Amino acid sequence: MSNESTHLVIIGGVAAGMKAVAKARRESPTMRITVVTDEQYISYASCGTPYFIGNVVKDSKKLILREPSYFKEMHNIDVLIRHQATAIDTKSKVVKVNDLEKGRDIVFHYDKLIIATGAQPIVPPLPGISLGNIFSLRTVSDAFKIKTCVDSGMVKNAVIVGGGLIGMEMAENLIVRGMKVTVIELLDQILPPLDKDMALIVQKHIMEKGVEVITSDGVKSFEGNSSNSVTKVITGKRQLPADIVILSIGIRPNTKLAQESGIEIGTTRAIKVTERMETNIPDIYAIGDCAENIHLVTGKPTWIALGSTAAKMGRVAAINATGGIDTFKGIVGTMIVKVFDLNVGKAGISEREAIKEGLKIESTIVPAGDIAHYYPGTKDIIIKLIADATTRKLLGAEIVGEGMIDKRIDIIATALTFGATVDQIPKLDLGYAPPYAMAMDALIAAANVLSNKLSGKTVGILPRQVEEKRDRREDFILLDVRTEIEYKGGHIKGCRHVPLDKLALRANELDSSKEIITYCRSGLRAAQAYRILKNAGFRNVKYMDGSVMAWAYGLEK
Ligand SMILES: Cc1cc2nc3c(=O)[nH]c(=O)nc-3n(C[C@H](O)[C@H](O)[C@H](O)COP(=O)(O)OP(=O)(O)OC[C@H]3O[C@@H](n4cnc5c(N)ncnc54)[C@H](O)[C@@H]3O)c2cc1C
Repeated sequence: MSNESTHLVIIGGVAAGMKAVAKARRESPTMRITVVTDEQYISYASCGTPYFIGNVVKDSKKLILREPSYFKEMHNIDVLIRHQATAIDTKSKVVKVNDLEKGRDIVFHYDKLIIATGAQPIVPPLPGISLGNIFSLRTVSDAFKIKTCVDSGMVKNAVIVGGGLIGMEMAENLIVRGMKVTVIELLDQILPPLDKDMALIVQKHIMEKGVEVITSDGVKSFEGNSSNSVTKVITGKRQLPADIVILSIGIRPNTKLAQESGIEIGTTRAIKVTERMETNIPDIYAIGDCAENIHLVTGKPTWIALGSTAAKMGRVAAINATGGIDTFKGIVGTMIVKVFDLNVGKAGISEREAIKEGLKIESTIVPAGDIAHYYPGTKDIIIKLIADATTRKLLGAEIVGEGMIDKRIDIIATALTFGATVDQIPKLDLGYAPPYAMAMDALIAAANVLSNKLSGKTVGILPRQVEEKRDRREDFILLDVRTEIEYKGGHIKGCRHVPLDKLALRANELDSSKEIITYCRSGLRAAQAYRILKNAGFRNVKYMDGSVMAWAYGLEK
C-alpha cells in the first residue's frame, strides 16, 4: 500500500485527472499527491459550457466545481495551475514541468504517474483561420471568450463548422441567443455517430427551429474585415456571412508528451492501456480522453472521448496507483444529447458501423409513445435497433424523440454490456405505471418487431431503403393505408392509397406481380396491412418500418 513517502503525480486537472485525485486521496489518506495542469482552471464541467453560452446556466461559478485551494486545505493535495508537463523520464521516474507564469522548469520525482492530458480540438490550417471571432469550444476559458463575443451584441450571423454533438449543442444555444445559425458539415449527414436515417430526423427538426444546415460541403477559407474579425466563411460551394465561427470538426487525443516518453500509442492514436489503465511503462497510467478503450460490442480498441468514461477510468487508475486492484473492461459507446426539443441517444454500434465490421445484420425502426398514450404529456420516440442476424445478439440502438429516451438508451447500454440477444429484451422486467411507460415498453415493442424480422415472420423495409428504391426508379407499389384525412394531410409522392379498413375488400385492385410496400403513420397499421395482403396471397410484400414518423424525405399534399 502507498504511504506518505510515495508520490503520485497526475498530469491534467479536468474530468479524468480530478476524479483520479479525489479517489486516490480516499484510498490513501497519507500519500503525497501533486496535480499539474497547464490551464488556469481545474475541475470544471466542459459539458455545461454550451448552456453557459446560451444563458441556460447563468453563473460561471457553477461550471467550476473546485478551486486548487480546496484540494490543499481539505485534502493536502498540491494543485499547480499553469504548469505544463514537458517531459517524462521513465527510467529515473521524473516529470519535467514548466511553470508557465515564471518560465522556469521544476522536476518532480514520481512513484506513480497518471497521465490525464485529455484531447484538443482540431483546428484546420485554412487561410484566415487566425482571424478574430473564430473559436473552438473545449475548455471553460474558451467558453468565457465565446460568451463575451456573443454578449457584445455585435454578432448576428453564426457559422458552426461541424455537425457533431458539440455543433448541435452550440446551434441550439446560439439560436436561443437570437443569432442566425448555419451548420456546415463535410459529410452527407449531421451527427456522424448516428445512421443517416436517424440523423435526418434530427436535421429536419433543427431546420424547423431555424438552423440552416449545409451538408456535403467543406470550409475552404475565412475572410475578415480591417479589424481582423471574421466576416465570411468560404466553402466549396458558397459564401456565408459570419460574425462568429465555432469550429467543432472534432478532437484528437493529447498524446505528444506520452509518445515522446516512449509510451505506446494504440491503433486509435490514443494511449494504449490495459483494463487496469496501465500503459506499457511500469507505474504509469493513462486515463480519460487521451487514452483508448475496448469497445465491448466489437471487442476492438476504440476512442470515444466522453466525460462519463473519463471519470470511470480515473477511479480505476487511482485504485490501482494506490495499491488496490480494479479494472475497467470497456465501453459500449453510449452517448446522449439534447438538440432543441429532441432527445438523441445511441448505444452500441450503428448499422453503418456494423456493416463495416463485416457483420450480417438486421435492423428496425419503431416509433412509439414514451408513456401511456392516455396519460397527459405523452411524447413520441423513434427507436432504431440493430442486431447480428446470425447470432441474434443486439449490436446497438439509436433513439430520437421528444419523449424520454434516456432510460431506454441506458437499458440498451446495460443489455449490450452483458451481451444480450434481441430476444432477451422483451423479457426484461421493466418498471411500468402510466406516467412512466407503457405496459409493454416502447423498447420491448421494438425488440419484438426486430425479433419477428430476424425470424422471417415479417419483412420490413427501412424508410431509407424505400427512398433508395425510388432513387433507382424501381417499379413497386407504395401503399398508404392510413385514413383519408391522414392521407390528405400529406403523403409520400407516388403512393397508392387504400385505407386499412378497406384493404381486405379492395386488395384485388393491386397488381400482385409487383412488390408492394405498405406504410402508415408509425408502422403498426402497415404491419397489419402486410399481414392482410400476405393472407390474401400476395407474395412480394413488405411494410415500411417507422413509416411516416421516420420518413425524412418530404411529403406532398
Ligand atoms: C462542449 C463540450 C460538451 C461536452 N459534453 C459532454 C457530455 O454531455 N457528456 C460527456 O460524457 N462528455 C461530454 N464532453 C466531453 C468531456 O468534457 C470530456 O470527455 C472530458 O472533459 C475529458 O476529460 P479529461 O480529463 O480526459 O480531458 P480534458 O478535459 O481535455 O482535460 C485535460 C487537461 O489536461 C491539460 N493538459 C494537457 N496536456 C498537459 C500537459 N502536458 N501538462 C499539463 N496539463 C496538460 C489540458 O489543458 C486539460 O486541462 C463534452 C466536451 C465539450 C468540450
